[in-house]
Amino acid sequence: MKLTKQNLSEHLDQVYDTIIVGGGAGGLSAGLYLQRYLLSSLIIDKGKARSLWMQQLHNYLGLPPDTPGRNLLKQGKDHYLSLGGDFLGGYVEEIVDEGETFAVRVKVGRQDSIYPVLRSKYLIAASGIIDYLPSLEKMQNVYEYAGYNLHVCLICDGYEMVDQKVGVFGSSEAGLEVAFSLGWFTPYITLFTNELFEVSSQLRNKLKEHGYPLVEQPIKQFLGQNHQMTGVELADGSVIELEAGLISMGSQYHASYLEGINLERQGGNIVTDKMARTSHPRIFAIGDLKVGLNQIVIAAADGASAATQIWREIRRATGAKRWMENLKTSV
Ligand SMILES: Cc1cc2nc3c(=O)[nH]c(=O)nc-3n(C[C@H](O)[C@H](O)[C@H](O)COP(=O)(O)OP(=O)(O)OC[C@H]3O[C@@H](n4cnc5c(N)ncnc54)[C@H](O)[C@@H]3O)c2cc1C
Repeated sequence: MKLTKQNLSEHLDQVYDTIIVGGGAGGLSAGLYLQRYLLSSLIIDKGKARSLWMQQLHNYLGLPPDTPGRNLLKQGKDHYLSLGGDFLGGYVEEIVDEGETFAVRVKVGRQDSIYPVLRSKYLIAASGIIDYLPSLEKMQNVYEYAGYNLHVCLICDGYEMVDQKVGVFGSSEAGLEVAFSLGWFTPYITLFTNELFEVSSQLRNKLKEHGYPLVEQPIKQFLGQNHQMTGVELADGSVIELEAGLISMGSQYHASYLEGINLERQGGNIVTDKMARTSHPRIFAIGDLKVGLNQIVIAAADGASAATQIWREIRRATGAKRWMENLKTSV
């Protein structure tokens, strides 16, 4: 059921089998599996998942290639609720490991916020990441195209850029390096620094060797209409025509609530085993937050792995069920 400020108090004494932080592709998938294993689960989600930006999911078996992320999320949430899962809209601020249980402190409501603490035996961190975008004076101008033909994911959208004139927007040399992978799909690549950093002579030479122009002026605005970016206007008023863009500026990891818990990490990503378990025995990490490919299909598979491992452990700890019905008939 959907938890609200009004009905939340009924759930404060409950210990869920699992609390899932994040109701994106990974979290919803984990929730579906947990409910189908007859375990109790609560998904806490602040909204605005990365998958919400995804206008078309091109590479998921069984779904039409124009499926928008919002449809995937809505269908997943409705399915989860129909299986009796609990869902709370809120921001997880802190997790405390109490030994047998986790205490999960949540901010609920932007105004007149309340801060309930909910408890579970296991925790699944499914809170994902969010991509950094070029910082322009009018950010609305960036949001207009981001997720449409201003892409953020080469694996997802390389195919969409075949033979197109593409601008690569980086915030460091490492970000610009994506151009050499993008070159698999198109020869027409222009790189933009937006005057954020200096480019070394080594990279300049490499770009020259590949024939990729480098633009170092600040960007005034993206041009285009109906969510289709058609070029970039630079600070001096000159215009560079483009058919698509690839933003490669890194991402913010949504994991500040885990700060008090020492988990093994690789860069910002959480390290897990093949069942998505972290270095803490009762914490699992799935989707973009963990080491691996940032893809819907991976996040969904991680959710299945984590939920299945949790079920195995709870089932083994409980022991094989002896049904009274069977015992009566066998006497
Ligand atoms: C523009 C774009 C296009 C893409 N295209 C494709 C594609 O074509 N194919 C593909 O496979 N993948 C694509 N991806 C990647 C895909 O969206 C991600 O890999 C996927 O969404 C990861 O799922 P997730 O569950 O890990 O994270 P998310 O879907 O981001 O879900 C995480 C959720 O956790 C919530 N959250 C974060 N912190 C907290 C907190 N403290 N408390 C409560 N909730 C919290 C977030 O708000 C969010 O709702 C695309 C991504 C983008 C941005």
